[in-house]
Amino acid sequence: MSELLRIDALDVAYASRKGLSPALRGVSFALGAEKVGIVGESGSGKSTTGRAILRLLPRAAKMTAKTLTFQEVDLAAASEREMRRIRGARISMILQDPKYALNPLKTVGAQITESWKIHHPATSRAELRDRALDMLEKVKIRNPSRVHDLFPHEVSGGMGQRVMIAMMMVPEPRLIIADEPTSALDVTVRRSVLDTLAELVEERGAGLIFISHDLPLVARFCDRIVVMYAGRIVEEIAASDLKDACHPYTQGLLASLPPLDRQLERLSVPVRDPAWLTGPVYRNGAAA
Ligand code: ATP
Ligand code: MG
Repeated sequence: MSELLRIDALDVAYASRKGLSPALRGVSFALGAEKVGIVGESGSGKSTTGRAILRLLPRAAKMTAKTLTFQEVDLAAASEREMRRIRGARISMILQDPKYALNPLKTVGAQITESWKIHHPATSRAELRDRALDMLEKVKIRNPSRVHDLFPHEVSGGMGQRVMIAMMMVPEPRLIIADEPTSALDVTVRRSVLDTLAELVEERGAGLIFISHDLPLVARFCDRIVVMYAGRIVEEIAASDLKDACHPYTQGLLASLPPLDRQLERLSVPVRDPAWLTGPVYRNGAAA
């Protein structure tokens, strides 16, 4: 499997009145055409990692990395112009809520082929429509020709997320970063939307970074799991080996999962330990 992305010693700090507060500390991982899940509690740095890859951090953020390469392009050194060519076309990001990402004034169909139109301005209207309908079918929208002409407020949350996936897949990105893409959906819709995303990613031989709080969901959809705690990766493990996780934080996350017959209020919360801020990192079942 050829490597798509390599991150080595990525540090990000956000500037505030109190000075710089670190958000990522020495984040390192690599990814090929595979599905990697990033899990960790709120504030652990999952979204910051996704945004750093696309260089979409706010101005107040300071980023340094020993290596940040995507298909041989040095993302840390790329010009803003080069980054604009990469964003959306070679690396796409799907965000949590389609309401904010879709343009309320344009039909679903027009939005799906927008990026295609930019890169292929001579495409006829009929061909654009065919492309959009084809994509809507690929993301398993039931009545593509009806949905093609709807506006975003006329589609459900699950359909909106499928439209976002369709939009993002049109330029055939090599890497997709999905940040909590389905957390607003109910459980069954979430699973079926993610099944569709996983199928498309596999079919295209792309890479996926799937960011979520939901460890069982990540384990179901991803090949590998990266566990973050306080801006560090504390464990990286194959999803199939998750039950043998070494880090106490990962073990705590696993232990806190509700067995189906248990009430939510009886959940135990994973313990925290200051030693995890500097302690060992486990990769594939051994301290690295
Ligand atoms: P969540 O699960 O809640 O989405 P996360 O793991 O995605 O959390 P990040 O959003 O990456 O966490 O945040 C990591 C740290 O960086 C947090 O301490 C957060 O407060 C801080 N942070 C994130 N964005 C900013 C920002 N724009 N300005 C200042 N600090 C920020
Ligand atoms: Mg986040």
